[in-house]
Amino acid sequence: MPFYNEEKQIDITVRTILPILEELDISSDILLIDDGSSDHTWDEISKVSLAYPNQVRGLKLSRNFGKEAAICAGLDMVDAHAVILMDGDLQHPPACIPEMIRLWREGYDVVEGVKSDRGKESKLSRMNARIFYGLFRKVAGYDLSNASDFKLLDRAVIEKWRSLKEYQTFFRGLSAWLGFKRCNFSFEVADRQTGHSRWRLSALVRLSVNAITAFSSIPLHLISLIGAIFFLGSFLLIIQTLFNYFSGNANDGFTTVIIVVLVVGACIMVSLGLLGIYVGKIFEEVKGRPRYIISDDTKSPPSRGRDFINSKSAPNAKEGQ
Ligand code: UDP
Ligand code: MG
Repeated sequence: MPFYNEEKQIDITVRTILPILEELDISSDILLIDDGSSDHTWDEISKVSLAYPNQVRGLKLSRNFGKEAAICAGLDMVDAHAVILMDGDLQHPPACIPEMIRLWREGYDVVEGVKSDRGKESKLSRMNARIFYGLFRKVAGYDLSNASDFKLLDRAVIEKWRSLKEYQTFFRGLSAWLGFKRCNFSFEVADRQTGHSRWRLSALVRLSVNAITAFSSIPLHLISLIGAIFFLGSFLLIIQTLFNYFSGNANDGFTTVIIVVLVVGACIMVSLGLLGIYVGKIFEEVKGRPRYIISDDTKSPPSRGRDFINSKSAPNAKEGQ
């Protein structure tokens, strides 16, 4: 579960999920990922992992890398027969866990939560979601409307996920792309008990542009289509201009010229912007940077240089320590 500035939520989440897991006849643990929070989320995660050392493990990313990166960190770190991925704010109801496991045992490799009701969402964010998923379906060919990140993945799927090398991921889309034997279950998005949604409009727009450009080059082909339309249009205008010239009305058509210049200019700018997005994506990918950096782990805290220095200068430190 990813968490970003959710200090009040950690304890509630763990206390809600643990009894549900204990009732199941499986061995399980909970991995909590702090996505570089600036509040006391990490302190709270450390506390619960101390209270339940066998069931809870915490990881801290070195800064806020975003939910997608936190998901990647979680999927890279787990060693299990299956993993359930869910939001830390309990908007993905943990009561669905037994049903997810039942479906997995029946033979499904991916068990996906589909929102039957989007919960308390503003009209604007519903409209944004509709536009995004409509566009995504058109250009990428996957219908992800009402899809969620609430999913169970079998070990085989996680191994294939790890072989995907891209730096910028779109979990919902990539998990659909991976295929495997899948089934859906529907759930109602619960209300948040603490805090508020962390998604700002700019982050959502970034995620949407990233998702669409990662899954399709159709926007690039649109540039050629626009070019072809303008080629046809210019052909008609050339005939009209020549006609005016030869019939002695060559000064007319100023309005047309202005409109054509503005429209062509705007199209060129949009096309350049689109090319820029794809070139930017290539730039991000070729740098080959890791998707996230882990700075702390409650199971095996990474050592810091100062620990060594401090242990040497401690008053009763033994020689050679
Ligand atoms: N989250 C995260 N990193 C971020 C933003 C969000 O790990 O940069 C976590 C957040 O703490 C929550 C989950 O991702 O557990 C879903 O986020 P949120 O509730 O803000 O999204 P919404 O439910 O509104 O889609
Ligand atoms: Mg939420």
